[in-house]
Amino acid sequence: MSRRIVIVGGGIVGVCNALALQRAGHSVTLVDRTTPGRETSYGNAGVLSESSIGVLNNPGLLASLPKLLMGRSNSVRFSPLFVIRRLGWMLKFLSYCTTSRWQAAGRALRALQTLSLDQHKAWIAEAGVDDLLRYGGWMKAFRTTESFEAYAGELALADENGVVYSVFDESQLRQIEPGLKPIYKKAVLYDETCGVSNPAALTDAYVAMFVESGGTVLQASVSGLSQGESGWHVGLDGADDLSPDDVVIAAGAWSAEIAGWVGYDLPLGWERGYHLHLEPADGPQLNRAVHDVDGGFAIVPMQQGVRITSGVEIAHRDAPPDYSQIRRSVALARDGHEMKGEIEDTPWMGRRPTMVDSLPVIGPAPRHDGLWFNFGHQHVGLSMAPGSALAITAMIDGAAPPIDMDPFRATRFSI
Ligand SMILES: Cc1cc2nc3c(=O)[nH]c(=O)nc-3n(C[C@H](O)[C@H](O)[C@H](O)COP(=O)(O)OP(=O)(O)OC[C@H]3O[C@@H](n4cnc5c(N)ncnc54)[C@H](O)[C@@H]3O)c2cc1C
Repeated sequence: MSRRIVIVGGGIVGVCNALALQRAGHSVTLVDRTTPGRETSYGNAGVLSESSIGVLNNPGLLASLPKLLMGRSNSVRFSPLFVIRRLGWMLKFLSYCTTSRWQAAGRALRALQTLSLDQHKAWIAEAGVDDLLRYGGWMKAFRTTESFEAYAGELALADENGVVYSVFDESQLRQIEPGLKPIYKKAVLYDETCGVSNPAALTDAYVAMFVESGGTVLQASVSGLSQGESGWHVGLDGADDLSPDDVVIAAGAWSAEIAGWVGYDLPLGWERGYHLHLEPADGPQLNRAVHDVDGGFAIVPMQQGVRITSGVEIAHRDAPPDYSQIRRSVALARDGHEMKGEIEDTPWMGRRPTMVDSLPVIGPAPRHDGLWFNFGHQHVGLSMAPGSALAITAMIDGAAPPIDMDPFRATRFSI
């Protein structure tokens, strides 16, 4: 039976959810306070991954804490005051750093990412934007043999989950990626991972498909949410309020706040990240996204230029940006790849939405019929959005989801 459904949040997660529900015959309104796909989903590294299954709460994190706390890593920066204020969340995050939890998270993410990549490929073909899709894998490059050896746990997890990868030494790397300078001793190529050369254009293409098939996109800020006898009431600033049968909260880093309006206390944090584009130099360009593991950044060939993306900044979601990490990343990236000048004066900043156990929450709200959660996709939201959308759609239709959704249920937390 066709239902009237409102999706709160038009990032890649909300947009994919809108598309999947529409394809299942529902009448869908996508609400975002800005143009869809212009927050975190705008500026990511464009990797469509089926291999990013090792979450940050890994057993090795505890050993590297002293280095992180001394501020000696470019991968992770933090505001000490913010960490102290959110100490409970941080300690809970660290409590998940066990081998068994890491392996379980890896299995769950692998299933969701594989499902998602297939659906991305199908929708990309349907939208006629194959030019955005890049095959050729996702590369991890190591400046020292020690850092490659320290990566062994990730490769073991990949092996356990059937992830395909190849390992290259220095001279092989020069053949496969001649655009990298010879500072890397080893590389791991996740052969089946894909990418897009413009994540915002991908979201735009999906939104266009949704609208062409009769979907509604509303630009308005959701300011209230309540359930009455006849269904849901969604309060809007900038448009008339809505009264749908179902509501999906897919508002990325803002989701817990919205779920809080109806009484849920979800342990959602955010990992801020930055990017800056540089003009390509005249020499060989990269064939794929490359993650410099020691440097803690990625170099990605994009339509807008060579995109350098930073690692994690742990600070308040709404604190003013601190560009030191991305500036340092750009300087380090120049060691590894020849590039010309910076294209923008001001770097972009986004907020990865991260649950305390690094797994998204996808499924029904436990105490309200017709309320659904779809958020917390951390570093891989672009990759996992289609699978999350298919799963929620199946659940709304009362069908069995295509994969086991138990690891993603909201009730794993006391909320
Ligand atoms: C530097 C960086 C690199 C990354 N690289 C990758 C990568 O290569 N591959 C990958 O898979 N992932 C990557 N990610 C992660 C990925 O970008 C995120 O997981 C994903 O974008 C999250 O999507 P989302 O739709 O949940 O959130 P968002 O894109 O942030 O969307 C949330 C939307 O909700 C809207 N909203 C919020 N509150 C309201 C309200 N009250 N009313 C109306 N609208 C509201 C916002 O306007 C926004 O548009 C990266 C992230 C960063 C920061």
